[in-house]
This record gives sequence, structure tokens and C-alpha cells, in this order.
Amino acid sequence: MANTYNFNAGPGALPAEVLQEAQEELRNYQGIGASILEISHRSKAYEGIHYEAQQLIKEMMGLSSDYEVLFLYGGASLQFSMVPINFLTEGKIAGYVHCGTWSGKAWQEAQKIGQTLVLASGEKQSYKQMPDLSNLNIPKEMAYVHLTSNETIDGIQCRSFPDTGHVPLIVDMSSDILSRPIEASRFSLIYAGAQKNLGPAGVTIVIVRRSLLERVPETIPGILSYRTHVNHHSLYSTPPVFSVYMVNLMLRWIVNQGGVQGMAVRNQQKAELLYHVLDNSGGFYKGLAYKDSRSMMNVTFRASSPEMENKLLVELEQEGFMGLKGHRDAGHFRASIYNAVPYEHCKALADFLTEFQKRNG
Ligand SMILES: *Cc1c(COP(=O)(O)O)cnc(C)c1O
Repeated sequence: MANTYNFNAGPGALPAEVLQEAQEELRNYQGIGASILEISHRSKAYEGIHYEAQQLIKEMMGLSSDYEVLFLYGGASLQFSMVPINFLTEGKIAGYVHCGTWSGKAWQEAQKIGQTLVLASGEKQSYKQMPDLSNLNIPKEMAYVHLTSNETIDGIQCRSFPDTGHVPLIVDMSSDILSRPIEASRFSLIYAGAQKNLGPAGVTIVIVRRSLLERVPETIPGILSYRTHVNHHSLYSTPPVFSVYMVNLMLRWIVNQGGVQGMAVRNQQKAELLYHVLDNSGGFYKGLAYKDSRSMMNVTFRASSPEMENKLLVELEQEGFMGLKGHRDAGHFRASIYNAVPYEHCKALADFLTEFQKRNG
């Protein structure tokens, strides 16, 4: 296999061991004589995967029995609509923290369903800094507060979460779920497309507090109702079986790496390697995010001039560094260093950037 280093933003890298395991049991899953792709989602074999994955998420996120774990479809983007359809009911107002592209999209969809209020915005800092969340003014009759924990495109991340009192806190964790420990009991609903930190595209993990389900109107379509999915243990319609299977392999891999704590230590080391190069380049490279908001998952940066950036991009691709061209809306460079990206790959990138500067600085 070619020597490549995968820094794609999403879908992102998967551990080599996980891909190998999937390959080995693709034709004949655990000796049942068929692929996991070819059997009923009501079979014992699939149910084993489904419930194990739910259990591993509950254990690693420290969820109490108040929470249900769902495997939905439609990406994190469907959750932008499902959240307000379920909870932004008549006469209520939903609060949004607007801290970048993805939270902006979530807010935009909610406006189609009901009344919204922006509680904090990162607009003045061009979304390069997390707005201050320590003193949000949250009316107590608010439907919920929505937040994006890691803004994947500009590379900023929440260091701490706001206290919303009795108002449910709903968080899009698509690009940092299970990358660091969180205090799960503070959240009423967490959602995340799997394809960044937790597996392949096709499945969205939704974690919902049971007591929130009382608020879901009876009148909304069944497939869009969290209550429906909870009542059917996330087997209301055919789940994305192969994606759930891959997520389960990835969850076992995380357990073997020391769980979420192990991930957090390594993710921190990986990010520090790269930020260290940017900060010690005498301005040759420039990190784009404010230091207090820097993401441990998406490291965004520029080089000294557009010509130098073009040169760097060409050389990175020649050397096998994939996926470093920033988002089409943000430009520049972005190294996505999710759970599955090895420390050694970050080291190789850090060394290459240093060496490139020596030749061109
Ligand atoms: C990628 C991403 C999304 C969109 O995910 P889809 O599964 O493609 O809908 C939403 N929110 C965040 C924070 C993301 O990084």
C-alpha cells in the first residue's frame, strides 16, 4: 500500500486494524455463512452488534439509565431539522449559539420551524474564537439551547459548556464525540454524524434524555420523532447496518486504546505537535483560530504567502499527505486529526512542515 497520511476532514481516517477486521469478516460474518450486509436487522447477529454499540457508547460517555442511544440516518444535517421539529413547539423560543458554519446551518433550519434567538455569536471574531458562554442570558421558558462543540471548518472548540439550568442543552458533537471526556449529565441531547470521529458515513449517533421525550408532539411524522425511535430501540425501520457494525468495531478499538481518557491524552499530544510548529515558525505559518479556542480535532493554518501555500500544497500531496486543503468556504490548510489519526502521522506532518520552512523560509 502507498505510504499515505490521511488528514481528511470527513469522512475521516479509520484505524488500519478496524478496516482489516471488517475486511476479514466481510464475506462470512462470525461463521454464519453470510455477510453482515446480507442478513436481517432483526437477526441475532445484527442485534448483538446494535446493542453492544449502544452499550459501549453508554459506558464510555458515562450515561445513566436516563439516556437512550439511537442510530439514525440523514446525517447530522437531518438533526438540524429534527431537533426543532421535536422540541421547538408552538409559542416556544429556541436559543442558538452561532459559532461557525455548522451552528449557522442548524440555526437556519430551526428558523423554518419556529422562533429562535441567538444567545451568543462569534461573528465579530469571524468565527475564529468561541463566544463567551459563561454568562448566557437564557429565559427559563426557552425550548432548548443549541450548541456546536467543535466547529470543523474554522477549527474552534468549546473548552467548557454553559450552564443552562433547567433549559435542555442540545449539542452537535459531530467532529469531537468521544475525543475527550465530557460530563454527560449536563446534556439533554447529543448528536453526531459518525464519519469524523467514530466510523463511516451513514449513521448518526443520537443520545437523548428520556424525560425530554414527553415534549415531542404526537402530530409529527413517526420517522422524524425521537419518541418513535426510542420506543423501537432504534429498530423502527432498517438501520444503516453496515455503518453501525463499523462504529461498533471503532468503539471496541477506542476501548483498547484506553477509552475516552486514552483518546483525550493522545489527541492533545497530536494537536500540540502541530500547534507547536505553527507557533514556533516566526510567522512563516499562522494558526487561524484564537489560541483560547483552538480545536484539538481540526488544526487550521496559513503559510506566508499565496504562492508559498500553492507550493506547500503540491509538495504535501507529493509526499502522501492527504486532505489538508481547507474547506472550500474557509480556504488555507486544515489538518483533521480525529481519534483514528495516529500520533506518528501527526509527527510526520509536523516534521515535514518544519523542513519545508527550512528550505523556503
Ligand atoms: C460534518 C458536520 C456536520 C454535517 O454532517 P452530515 O452528516 O454531513 O450531515 C454537522 N455538524 C458538524 C459539526 C460537522 O462537522
